[in-house]
This record gives sequence, structure tokens and C-alpha cells, in this order.
Amino acid sequence: MKSLTALLAALAMTTATPSQAENWSIAIHGGAGTLERAKMTPELEAEYEAALQAALDAGADVLKQGGSAMEAIQAAIVILEDNPRFNAGRGAVFTWDGTNELDASIMDGRDRSAGAVAGVKTVKNPILLADKVRTESEHVFLMGKGAEDFSVEKGFEVTPPEYFATPARREALERMKAKQLSALDVDHKFGTVGAVALDMQGNLAAGTSTGGMTGKRWGRIGDAPVIGAGTYADNRSCAVSATGWGEFFIRVGVAHEICTRLRLGIAAPQDAADAVMQEVADLGGDGGVILVTPAGDALFSFNTSGMYRGRATSGGINEVAIFGGDAASSAAPEH
Ligand code: ASP
Repeated sequence: MKSLTALLAALAMTTATPSQAENWSIAIHGGAGTLERAKMTPELEAEYEAALQAALDAGADVLKQGGSAMEAIQAAIVILEDNPRFNAGRGAVFTWDGTNELDASIMDGRDRSAGAVAGVKTVKNPILLADKVRTESEHVFLMGKGAEDFSVEKGFEVTPPEYFATPARREALERMKAKQLSALDVDHKFGTVGAVALDMQGNLAAGTSTGGMTGKRWGRIGDAPVIGAGTYADNRSCAVSATGWGEFFIRVGVAHEICTRLRLGIAAPQDAADAVMQEVADLGGDGGVILVTPAGDALFSFNTSGMYRGRATSGGINEVAIFGGDAASSAAPEH
């Protein structure tokens, strides 16, 4: 009996996990900008919140079960890519020429391996292709036809372009052309998607996926597939996914800049994110970021009226929000 008790005690010791090791967190976004509050009906708001919650839950479930941050962010992003309300995968915005051209990137903070694709038109889930570039090519960044050839070689299905096209996004392009509006006037609800996570093994990951900006032309590529601008992950500092006016995020090198400030201990996580978003605002850009840190903080910073967003942590946080000032909000100063 005594030895059985001792055996049970020994077993308990080997299976007990220190609470530190159970630390996980995830944050997601579905784009900065958002519909004006006046135009957002309760039904639409509930629909967006349910979509965000579904993506957040999918990612959090992976982490709770001990899965990796890389798996968690892909689980969350695929759900948002498949939802036509968001500007990624199905429901992507239209280019000037009336096509849907998708960009995505992903990064593993454990070894800083990264993959990205730009301008793909036939891949249902570009984030999965970006990950394939990361894991099964010698490259980081593939574009257009070459990226599509690579996807076929790796066994991805060729998705017909009609799958991505939705009437609402087509109408936005037509309105833009008719009124000669800029992409920002017509589409101040960006809808890019992204996720960042910390897993129980202490690894960070980040991913971002988008259709870009309405009416983009001449092969324009924004920040979302650019490692260091729209996406960055480094176990030494943080994981970041961005959304907003891509040109400014590239110029500031937003995701890498936030991580660098944390790595060098220049600022606390929220302050670093707010300061870098302020730089974007000072140059005339807008948008937002999500980040998680090795300590498990899941944070937001944005200088738009809202950002579709959510976060969940092992500490019990589980929330989604849309507008600034809602729960799950931590906005940089308005500019
Ligand atoms: N950052 C994306 C781009 O510039 C757009 C967005 O986040 O909504 O392509």
C-alpha cells in the first residue's frame, strides 16, 4: 500500500506541468478600418463577431491541446479566408482589372523560417501555400504564376477564380471606378485577416492573408506578404500581424520594428506597438496590429475607428470586438 502511494505520488510528479508551461495565447484580426458604426446593423455585427469567435476558438483549441503556434494560426486564418465577409481568400477585393489576387505570409518564431506568396489567383487558402513555401521550398517569397505552379506541384487544388468573387466586392470596384474614388474612400473597411500565437512550448508564430486593396493595379503588392512589414515572429521578442494601408506598413517595416523594440528592451509591448503605429499615422497611413509576447500578452494597437479582432489566453481572456472602445480594445491615439 505504502509503495502504491509512493508510486502514485511519483506519477503525479512526472505528469504535473508547471503552470508556466501551460501558458498559451492567441490574437486574431479581420482587418482594421471597419464599417461606420451607423451602418453596422446588430445582425451584421453579430455575424462578424460569430466569425471572429469561430476563428479564435479554432486557434485556441489547438493551443489548449498542446498544439503548436504554427498550427493554431493556420487553423484560425483558414476560417477567416473561407468567410466571404473578410478580404482574404473568398471575398477578396477586386483589382482594377476585375480579378482577385491574393497575398499571404507566415513566420515561425522558433527558427524564423518564413514563407510568402503574392498575386495568386487559384489557391483557396493562400496561408497554407505560404506555409508550404516555408517548409518545402528553399525560398521565402513566390509570386503569381510561379507560386501557382508550385502549389500544383505540391498537390494544392486549382480553385476557379469565380470562387473568390463576391457581389459586394465587385460593387466596391464599380463604385470606385464610377466615382473615381481612391481605394481608401471606397473600402475603408479593409478586411485583411491575421493571427499570432504563443504555444505551451514557448514558440511564437504569425500569419497574414489578404486580397490587398480594391482597385489595385500594375501588380501592386501591399505589406501583408512582406516579411517584416505585415508579418514577423521571433521567439526572442514577439509575433506580429498587421492590417491597414500597406504602403505605409512597408515603409515603416512595422512588424519587424515592433519586434526589434521588444528584443532590445526599448519599450514595453503595448508602448512599442503604439509608438510604431504612431509612426505609421505620422506618415499619413492607418491600420492596426495584433501581437503576442513570450510572456503570453495578447495585445492590439490601431489608429482606425475599429479593427475586427479577438484574443484568448490560458489566463482566461476570451473576447472579440470590432470598434475602438469595445472590449478587447487597446487603441493607439487617433490621428
Ligand atoms: N494591408 C493590406 C494591403 O495593403 C490591406 C489591409 O490590411 O486591409 O494590401
